[in-house]
Amino acid sequence: MFNALLLKQHRGKTTANIEKIDEKQLPAGNVTVAVDYSTLNYKDGLAITGTGKIIHHFPMVPGIDFAGQVIDSKDNRYHPGDKVILTGWGVGEKHWGGMAEKARVQGEWLVPMPQNFSTKKAMMVGTAGFTAMLCVQALIDHDITPQRGEIIVTGASGGVGSIAITLLAQLGYNVTAVTGRIGENGNLLTQLGAIHLIERQQFLDPNHPVKPLEKSRWAGAIDCVGGQTLAKILSQMRPEGAVAACGLAGSMDLPTTVMPFILRGVKLLGINSVDCPREKRISAWESIVALLPDHYYESACHEIGLHEVVPAAQQIVSGKITGRTIIRLK
Ligand code: NDP
Repeated sequence: MFNALLLKQHRGKTTANIEKIDEKQLPAGNVTVAVDYSTLNYKDGLAITGTGKIIHHFPMVPGIDFAGQVIDSKDNRYHPGDKVILTGWGVGEKHWGGMAEKARVQGEWLVPMPQNFSTKKAMMVGTAGFTAMLCVQALIDHDITPQRGEIIVTGASGGVGSIAITLLAQLGYNVTAVTGRIGENGNLLTQLGAIHLIERQQFLDPNHPVKPLEKSRWAGAIDCVGGQTLAKILSQMRPEGAVAACGLAGSMDLPTTVMPFILRGVKLLGINSVDCPREKRISAWESIVALLPDHYYESACHEIGLHEVVPAAQQIVSGKITGRTIIRLK
């Protein structure tokens, strides 16, 4: 028997409790993993609080990512003792996830642990950091070099935003961070590598609705927020600039026009970390290990136990968490 956070539905409401689970109850899969760490992502917050329709069926162990050691494997790429990382593939949504001491998944979904990396560091990065790397890579693939100009990152204090700032700064980009918490997190964002900070409200002011085209400023953008913020950024992009859009922390709407696309050749690049192919995953993790400096792990992460997950889930949904929250299971 082992501990797991189990989500159930009672009279239409989601309940979340730590329960003892028998290994026989684990879902089908060819690799069983002893989970060392999972993390708390925005999507996990929505699932645990029942705020968003994330869970496909109940009961469900949440946790869209985890890192741990293989206990048992019928996939010949993995052997007992191997360290592995999992993000995405619907784990924690339609397949039991990482907020349990054990998980069983398909070997195809796993990434072998990069050399000189630990399960703890892997989850300090987690889905958020992996997504940030995919966003950075998308900009690089679209020729957005540091010489092209400033990069703007929204949702800066969050997991994706804070890691995106760090990665971009390490690559020599000039980064502007948009945050609703300059007073609280301004110093941290500057330490991570942001050169300029902009107050989030500037992108949301109802008295200044978004114009189809505004004064152009940004060579590239990584947007975690969506809605009016993304629309305004699109209208402020430089000709041939590119925006990697990965999130909806503000809104799922996109109240824009075609003008940035047809008059400035702006590229809107959708980022989906869930179904990213395995080879691209392995390469993204190698880049993360090479790029993230030690000061990121020291300044932007904190650790909680399984019993602290429910209040932390409420906080992440209210936009009150800074950086990454990892969940210790071993
Ligand atoms: P976090 O909750 O850690 O960060 C989101 C940040 O957005 C907050 O810290 C806050 O930053 C800002 N924010 C919160 N609420 C609002 C609001 N109402 N309006 C404007 N800004 C707001 O989430 P993550 O960083 O983990 O994820 C960011 C987004 O990316 C989420 O929407 C998530 O679902 C999505 N995502 C998508 C993935 C994909 O594969 N496409 C994978 C991973 C995440 P600040 O206080 O600095 O303004």
